[in-house]
Amino acid sequence: MDIEQFRKAGYQAIDRICDYYYSLQERSVTSQVEPGYLRQHVPLTAPEKGEDFQIIADDYQKIIMPGLTHWQHPSFFAYFPTACTFEGILADLYATSATNPGFNWSNSPACTELEAIVMDWAAQLLGLSPAFMNASGVGGGCLQTTASDSALVAIVAARSLYQRNNPEAKMEDLIIYTTTQTHSLGLKAGLVLGLKVRAVEVDARDQFSLRESSLRNALDEDTKQGLKPFVLVATVGTTSSGAVDDLSEIGKVAKDYPSLWIHVDAAWAGVALSCPELREMLYLKEINQYATSFCTNFHKWGLVNFDASTLWVRDRKYLTEALDVTPSFLRTKHGDAGTVIDYRNWHLGLGRRFRSLKLWFVLRSFGVEGFQKYIRKSIELNNLFVKLIEESGNLSLVTPSSLALTVFRLVPKSSAQDAPAFSTQVLNELNHIFYGRISARHDILLTQTTLNGIFCIRLAVGAARTEEKHIRSAYDLLVKEANAVLEAYSE
Ligand code: PLP
Repeated sequence: MDIEQFRKAGYQAIDRICDYYYSLQERSVTSQVEPGYLRQHVPLTAPEKGEDFQIIADDYQKIIMPGLTHWQHPSFFAYFPTACTFEGILADLYATSATNPGFNWSNSPACTELEAIVMDWAAQLLGLSPAFMNASGVGGGCLQTTASDSALVAIVAARSLYQRNNPEAKMEDLIIYTTTQTHSLGLKAGLVLGLKVRAVEVDARDQFSLRESSLRNALDEDTKQGLKPFVLVATVGTTSSGAVDDLSEIGKVAKDYPSLWIHVDAAWAGVALSCPELREMLYLKEINQYATSFCTNFHKWGLVNFDASTLWVRDRKYLTEALDVTPSFLRTKHGDAGTVIDYRNWHLGLGRRFRSLKLWFVLRSFGVEGFQKYIRKSIELNNLFVKLIEESGNLSLVTPSSLALTVFRLVPKSSAQDAPAFSTQVLNELNHIFYGRISARHDILLTQTTLNGIFCIRLAVGAARTEEKHIRSAYDLLVKEANAVLEAYSE
């Protein structure tokens, strides 16, 4: 393809993307293809001779599009939605046009410098302490691919710091602390690093947040056994129910365990810190006081298309001392002089995408006010859903809703007022059937979870195009499915 052919194909691609967004509401949210569907359409080997690009572009529409789940659909309420904006799409287009794995400052100064600056913008947007900012010269922030990578990087740095301070500690004694509600990233880091992981129990009465006594008991018990707790992954906004670990109490415990690195995983909820009225409930003060590292994903609820996981550390040396490997072919004048950031030493890979461009485009185009408005709107829409559930006959909340996430289930009215009417087992069976019916539909997508043995359903608001009418029709549809389950049950 030459430059003029690219121009033509590029205009067509933008036209088709616009048409896609115009048609989004009329599409199904989920795909209706069967596993292996693509094998019928795509040959097993690459073509011997190059093909005409128009055929390739048309095949994207014909073959690929039917197998996509439309995460930008306004009725996408599953997992945590990944809001995407045109500003982010355009930034990715520019970034990929210059394809530039800016791992050292000197191989593309703009990539490094923009990342350092916009990470400071993002830190200020969220109210993080200046200690985390790149401008501090001590702490700093960088963009990682996912929250799982951010946690892994933080845990690698925590282990390295612990080993430097405790050279006698044996690797097999090191232990990562999580809770039973921590995302799979805790266990995965343990698997990758070959380290023990302890998931501390949390209680439904505490809305599944980590509290002082259970953390302290677990730490004391393991320490007595000779284990070395070196990192705790605390969560602000768990995946299942949006629970927020009590960072104030965790901070108290941490005073007795000064070598415990506290990584705060706020992959989903962290961007809500942009709204001052939410900062107290999300423990901003304590994050600033106690967290050694903090992560949130702008690619979830933060209007930036995947991927843009922001990670801040209180001291950048923790990262570079763990991850700096500099063979002679990577040495540069500025790197040797220590006058620049070489981001390759802040993550696992060498090359890195130019992700800061999309964060920059989005933050400039929305401004702080626009960003806050969007977060508040998701919360208001979720509050509407909560109100509808509370007023409903047979649907009921499992835990208090958290920000833009509601966890609910089907509890037949007689049972809600008169608990013994349905056992947990029967309710779980009913809810499996209920969820089965919801997930068999293609006009909406929600995901399930289990809390303390209770099977429940999650509705997460956050897709950029979701409006009140989508919430109301989601609710109507849920009521219809719930009634169908109850009718079948009573027959
Ligand atoms: N942490 C929390 C609380 C999450 O909800 C999620 C995903 O939903 C993750 C981490 C994982 O995010 P990522 O896919 O960026 O690794």
